[in-house]
Amino acid sequence: MTGQNPVFIPGPTNIPDRLRQAMAIQTIDHRAPDFANLLDPLFEDLKKIFKTKSGTVITFPASGTGGWEASVTNTLSPGDKVLIARYGMFSHRWIDLCQRQGLDVEVIECEWGSGAPADIFAERLAADKGHNFKAVLVTHNETATGVRSDIAAVRRAMDASSHPALLFVDCVSSLASMDFRMDEWGVDLAVSGSQKGFMLATGMAIVGVSQKALAAMETAKCKRCFFDFRDMGEANAKGGFPYTPPIQLLAGLRESLDMLFEEGLENVYARHFRIAEGVRRAVGAWGLKLCAKSADLNSDTVSAIYVPDGFDSNVLTDHAYDAYNVSFGIGLGEMNKKAFRIGHLGSLTDVMALSGLATIEMAMKDLNYPVELGSGVSAAQDYYRTSTSMLLSKVA
Ligand SMILES: *Cc1c(COP(=O)(O)O)cnc(C)c1O
Repeated sequence: MTGQNPVFIPGPTNIPDRLRQAMAIQTIDHRAPDFANLLDPLFEDLKKIFKTKSGTVITFPASGTGGWEASVTNTLSPGDKVLIARYGMFSHRWIDLCQRQGLDVEVIECEWGSGAPADIFAERLAADKGHNFKAVLVTHNETATGVRSDIAAVRRAMDASSHPALLFVDCVSSLASMDFRMDEWGVDLAVSGSQKGFMLATGMAIVGVSQKALAAMETAKCKRCFFDFRDMGEANAKGGFPYTPPIQLLAGLRESLDMLFEEGLENVYARHFRIAEGVRRAVGAWGLKLCAKSADLNSDTVSAIYVPDGFDSNVLTDHAYDAYNVSFGIGLGEMNKKAFRIGHLGSLTDVMALSGLATIEMAMKDLNYPVELGSGVSAAQDYYRTSTSMLLSKVA
């Protein structure tokens, strides 16, 4: 085990050296003034990542799941009706969380591989004349199936009947890697975490909160203590946390934001598209199929790929790990045994992507998949060398 190989799981992602070093700091006193000075610009810069001017950003020491729980418990009350579609493992887990919080959850069952059904949302909301639905919950990037949903279309569906429900969006595996526009899409709660697009260690839930969501807090009766927005907001305003903050992660976040701004958010999105497109070309060359049902749903951060009939994707991912010490994502939930996933988000280059494609090709060949060695790598190489990369544009 050299520890040199990148991971191709869709989070936690590879941590660039620059961020590992930024997180390797000695304890600083979180009640000292220099800690307070760190916080304000951090929150202001996070707003730029969410693309919100009117909203605010709240973080908690937690993983993304904690961000879901914070969003739900701060804005809703037990018995509140919420509308949510199930089309993968993460939307499924969010439904489970809402049910355990005592919400009245109306679930729209969708085929895995499809995205958020804006048309069905529009129908259900138009029929809800009494405005009983208090929230619509959508997973922007369903990491289990490699599907990106159209959040603007969900917003249009809500606006079509002038429905006042809050719009919750899970953007854990899309923020800081795919286009996300909190204000423009009218998102009230945008849930993310530190270990995906931010390229950091796991341990921070990062939530964008609209003014409307802050107002909903006044009447929300779900129980909360650790995740209380008000406690956190008041403490942040005084330059601190209501409890011990994750200092090393906050230092890492400072550096991560600097890296994202240096590259430029639009360039970050373009790089993710480009790397993902090379992976998709490889999948096509192997003769395999993505779980995403149509090209407009393709995620730029993770590809879920069906194995051919008669093969077990768990055997493939286990073999890649045992033989080559490289991790790929397993098939989750309904996709277990049927599909494997290539995570391509965060700190990744063409060269790294090619190494992953070469590795999974070897693993498939070892297991007698009907895949020609080099076919996927070559398709990706062709795409990477002819599509505009930063290097090529410099040479030209
Ligand atoms: C990773 C992820 C989460 C959060 O998972 P945690 O393990 O709690 O950080 C939530 N939603 C999606 C879509 C994810 O990819």
